[in-house]
Amino acid sequence: MKDIETKSRAYALKNALAHDGKCQQGAVISALFHEGLEKSEIPKYAKKISEIVNEVNKLSLEKQQKEFDKLESEVSERQEREGLPELDDVPKTGVIMRFSPSSSASAFHIGHILTGMPTSLYVKKYGGKFYMRIEDTNPEKTVAECYESFPKEAEWIFGNVTEWYAQSDRMEKYYKFIEELVLKGLSFVCTCKKQEDEESEFPKTREPCDCRNNSIKENNEKWKKMIDKKGFKEGEAVLRFKTSTDLANPALIDFPLARINLTKHPRQGNKYRVWPLMNLCVTYDDIEQKCTHIIRGKEHADNAKRQEMIFEALKVKLPHTYFLGRYKFKDLEISKTKITERIKKGEFSGWDDIRLPLARNFKRRGYQPEAFAKMAELRGLSDVDKVIAKDDLFAVINGFNREIIKPIAITIEFSDKKLKENKNEYTLLMDNATTKKIFTKEKLQDEKIYFLHRIGFAKLNGKILWFAHD
Ligand SMILES: [Zn+2]
Repeated sequence: MKDIETKSRAYALKNALAHDGKCQQGAVISALFHEGLEKSEIPKYAKKISEIVNEVNKLSLEKQQKEFDKLESEVSERQEREGLPELDDVPKTGVIMRFSPSSSASAFHIGHILTGMPTSLYVKKYGGKFYMRIEDTNPEKTVAECYESFPKEAEWIFGNVTEWYAQSDRMEKYYKFIEELVLKGLSFVCTCKKQEDEESEFPKTREPCDCRNNSIKENNEKWKKMIDKKGFKEGEAVLRFKTSTDLANPALIDFPLARINLTKHPRQGNKYRVWPLMNLCVTYDDIEQKCTHIIRGKEHADNAKRQEMIFEALKVKLPHTYFLGRYKFKDLEISKTKITERIKKGEFSGWDDIRLPLARNFKRRGYQPEAFAKMAELRGLSDVDKVIAKDDLFAVINGFNREIIKPIAITIEFSDKKLKENKNEYTLLMDNATTKKIFTKEKLQDEKIYFLHRIGFAKLNGKILWFAHD
């Protein structure tokens, strides 16, 4: 590779400009890979790259920009096209994006990984902020384990979450926002009995009710009665957004924003009785955090319209929104309820069962986050739903993973029998959850990935080698 110094400098400047003047060496190396730099060449250039990064970081933003303008042509077009498509109107300071897993799952599964990945990758690409919000304002659906597992798993799989939080920790902010909406006449309290949609389910048809004609003063009083313990009871009142009544899609008319729910919340206990619904929290957070771009599942298209109406009513500029088609897994179990049932029946040994497509299991098997990143790049921002069988999905992911782990995997000789020279015993956990004993000459190291002839790659966790793929 020629001109490595010039190219390093160009990429260092580009990355610095996207990160408030501070370039990260990793980003430069990764860009150079796209240019053809071999992994084996890193040691040779690492020192030089690090010097360039330091020099660039000492420059003022203005000087960085000036220098970059001269070197911009060194930044290859190919690199941009190889990854995800460009987003629209990316600010020089980077993007502000978010990923919002629902608290109804106890761990990240393959669906979370593939939906969150493009957002993570864009923040890596452009710089900026990556928020992870745990959507936990439905006390009935919240699973306590998510607060511990999501941040840990996001750290492993994405590695660039700027900040994570549980929405239920921000209830006071949402209440204030509601008050603002009520006082601006944008929201009203509905107390009639037509509350088919009191939860997050929206009815196909809903006739606008008379409550929408109440005065701001009345609505404000009724809102106070919603949060008052001695006020409305569960199911007696719902806070709604006041939409226009001639919307083509009746499911959008006067959609609900908050409801009373006395179910004990796993994180907040009985501290709150009124719980804001997803559309309210999402909109508030997007506005507060000044989100610039949103990537979301296509199944949220109606909710996106609801949120858009709130943005418009408040005259706030809407972030650029991109919809991803859904993966429909033919034969992969990702539903928490169903997995729990099958564990109870003994079909899976537990949440650690190697067959479950969960982030924690991928990690233990030796999968690298980059393999999932490649998968997400391959899919791009397609809004077409894709039905896919487990084997087809993993044939692709395994292919990417193989490329990544091959150089780092340690090839070991082993035997099925305990011999004098092979006395270190390990249990190999196969992907169909059966096990076999293997014996090796050398002592294996925890967390390392090994390649076993005729079997494949596996990672050692304690005394168990978790099989990844061949
Ligand atoms: Zn009503």
